[in-house]
Amino acid sequence: MEERLKIIQEQIRQACDRAGRAYDCVTLIAVSKTMPTQIVAQAYEVGMRQFGENKVQELVKKQEELPSDIKWHMIGHLQRNKVKYIVGKTELIHSVDSLRLAQEISKESQKLNMTSDILLEVNNAMESTKYGFSVDEVWQTISDIAVLPNIRIKGLMTIAPYVENQEENRKYFAELRQLSVDIKAKNIDNVTMSVLSMGMTNDYSVAIEEGATHVRIGTGIFGNR
Ligand SMILES: *Cc1c(COP(=O)(O)O)cnc(C)c1O
Repeated sequence: MEERLKIIQEQIRQACDRAGRAYDCVTLIAVSKTMPTQIVAQAYEVGMRQFGENKVQELVKKQEELPSDIKWHMIGHLQRNKVKYIVGKTELIHSVDSLRLAQEISKESQKLNMTSDILLEVNNAMESTKYGFSVDEVWQTISDIAVLPNIRIKGLMTIAPYVENQEENRKYFAELRQLSVDIKAKNIDNVTMSVLSMGMTNDYSVAIEEGATHVRIGTGIFGNR
């Protein structure tokens, strides 16, 4: 695992170089979904501190079993009835895909008297199998989400299509970045657009070249699920 991690860190460094970006402007999230706790602990031992999970129950269980300095990212589709179990436990919820989900996160955050940082998930490749707002829906909804109490919109997230050649996804990453720039220019209260969560094992280099601030890598670190 240490070897795999080194290779990825080197690839990240090279992509940052090509894009003229500082290496530390990209956060590597180790996607530990389906991996047993002792495997996740190995990633912790080689230095990982940011982990991503796509199921509430799995996130909560691993959080209880692993050191408390880990930052947990919720990256999977989130049902409203599960929100109460993870609010207050995540660094960032990447997968907000509806106004009603945002309302629920707001409500539960108010109960805990805290603020939750969220990203809006954008399905800009318009794949019918994936969750997320279309670009039009983002524009229609963002102001309604931004006014909700106790949440902050930190940016956007996308899951690009599975492709053999990552160059095919460059257009989607570039489009997400442009959307984030356009939203930022509107200066909406509670909307910073400082985070662009895009890029997975198969396409993170291109995502970084196009401005990703957070890459979510599972297979590349842990091997096949
Ligand atoms: C599983 C998953 C990843 C990681 O995928 P890999 O191809 O294994 O790197 C990233 N983001 C999301 C939302 C995921 O569900």
